[in-house]
Amino acid sequence: MIRLNLFEIMSKRSLSSSSEKVTSSKKLRIEDSSNTENNYAGTLNTIPDGFQISRTRLVTKNHQRDLSGSCVVLWMMRDQRVCDNNAIYYAQSVASKHNIPLKVVFNLVPKFLDATIRQYGFMINGLKEVEQSLRALEIPFHLLMGDPKVNIPKFVKDHDASLLVTDFSPLRVGLGWIQHVAQSLDENTPKKIPLVQVDAHNVVPCWVASPKLEYSARTFRGKISPLIGEYLREVPLPHTNPTGSLIDCSPIDWEAALNSLQIDRTVKEVDWIVGGAKAGELMVEEFIKKRLPNYDTNRNNPTLDNVSNLSPYFHFGQISVQKVVLKLKALKKFGGAVDTFIEEAVVRRELADNFCYYNPKYDSIEGCYGWAKETLQVHQNDKRPYVYTKEQLENAMTHDDLWNAAQIQMTREGKMHGFLRMYWAKKILEWTNSPEEALSIAIYLNDKYELDGRDPNGYVGCMWSIGGIHDQGWGERPIFGKIRFMNYEGCKRKFDVKKFVTKYPPAMSNANVANNQRTLRF
Ligand SMILES: Cc1cc2nc3c(=O)[nH]c(=O)nc-3n(C[C@H](O)[C@H](O)[C@H](O)COP(=O)(O)OP(=O)(O)OC[C@H]3O[C@@H](n4cnc5c(N)ncnc54)[C@H](O)[C@@H]3O)c2cc1C
Repeated sequence: MIRLNLFEIMSKRSLSSSSEKVTSSKKLRIEDSSNTENNYAGTLNTIPDGFQISRTRLVTKNHQRDLSGSCVVLWMMRDQRVCDNNAIYYAQSVASKHNIPLKVVFNLVPKFLDATIRQYGFMINGLKEVEQSLRALEIPFHLLMGDPKVNIPKFVKDHDASLLVTDFSPLRVGLGWIQHVAQSLDENTPKKIPLVQVDAHNVVPCWVASPKLEYSARTFRGKISPLIGEYLREVPLPHTNPTGSLIDCSPIDWEAALNSLQIDRTVKEVDWIVGGAKAGELMVEEFIKKRLPNYDTNRNNPTLDNVSNLSPYFHFGQISVQKVVLKLKALKKFGGAVDTFIEEAVVRRELADNFCYYNPKYDSIEGCYGWAKETLQVHQNDKRPYVYTKEQLENAMTHDDLWNAAQIQMTREGKMHGFLRMYWAKKILEWTNSPEEALSIAIYLNDKYELDGRDPNGYVGCMWSIGGIHDQGWGERPIFGKIRFMNYEGCKRKFDVKKFVTKYPPAMSNANVANNQRTLRF
């Protein structure tokens, strides 16, 4: 048993005052380290080189600093990679300081918010690679199956952990698990194991970027931009664990794990993109070579596909945004394109985390701003020119060939072009009976088919399109009220709609069928 006296160093670098506001502003808020003298993780006598301790916060009530135990456990959730991972960096630094090994654990749930084999397959490809990379460093990687609320407290107890570290997501399921696990650890007797959370996903930790719900990209940009330089740092590579650390860790039977999942297997995996850090890095290289030079001018043209295609990798944390941004900046060319990428991948993406973190109703019309709820309510009973069922929409059976093509792109390829996602969601508002129904269908389809689904970006994308989040009021019109409107003619002015539609049969013939049926009905 190792017993350590860790009172000496008290970090002055924590952002306790901003995190205090965080604690009170949301139901699922996790208690953070401001309830100790300073940032808890900073008081553990371990502030790794170049690591900002404000990336961490304490989740358990217990904040004892006399750590005792045989290992540090990292519960990997959102950031499923070995390199450029601040959660691993922090956890391993504490372990090394105390001469104990690091163990990494991932809890695979058999069902997760209706994710299908498409998303699970992509994720498991990445996790296989995580296992290999960790084993090469003699770091055990354990796969637990079932309920994390039960499994994680048991794992840390069975392995006599001195500290549990985890990463950060602003979404309610993960926050709920973490809160539950923290409670179990606090109730554990006689030994209380602290749980520290590290924001390893955002360039600027979510609770540092802003202590409150931001109204728009403009207000958020003003806060995050001055901090990006400070937080954008290389994360050192993990090092090898003490010899013998793999002794109680057998290789994972991934086939059995995959077979045990209770998921929809009809939504097939796609073959144009492969899950995992290595494939992600290749995608970054391809982006730099082929698409970055014109990213700022062509990214909104769906016929060119001049986007990064990195969102599935970012979503599963298989590559870090921070690493990509550092790489692009190091090029010292394509300045306009690099700035545009930073605006999308840092400002807009981290704004989505801000929204979901500070607004518990992030996926509901109730979570929209007052003006938007009011205007949608006023137009609730406006006559819809077309009304489609969820099934008609899912099967791309509308009168609109562009909408059908976008839907087919998503169901077939697992990724709809970003510009079309806005048009797609806005038309669902126009063609269903209520904004609530529209939002629920948009989220359902998005999360069922997109590889990057179930992401803060997705909830915010749907809420922006249908509920005006982060947007302003526009000229009033039927159904939309003051919510920004988009139409087919506008798309025709931006890109060659016919060219895009032709790529996705039967988008056009489905539209003809829908139009004929309509003619017969009237
Ligand atoms: C209705 C709707 C649904 C969406 N659903 C999702 C989703 O489920 N998952 C998801 O990751 N994104 C979603 N988005 C945001 C955006 O469309 C995608 O992130 C983007 O198309 C992903 O492709 P890319 O990586 O090639 O993007 P790029 O244009 O190359 O952008 C680079 C990165 O910037 C970030 N980014 C780009 N656009 C946005 C944006 N509008 N908001 C926040 N971050 C952004 C993403 O992390 C993206 O990977 C949605 C947008 C809308 C309007």
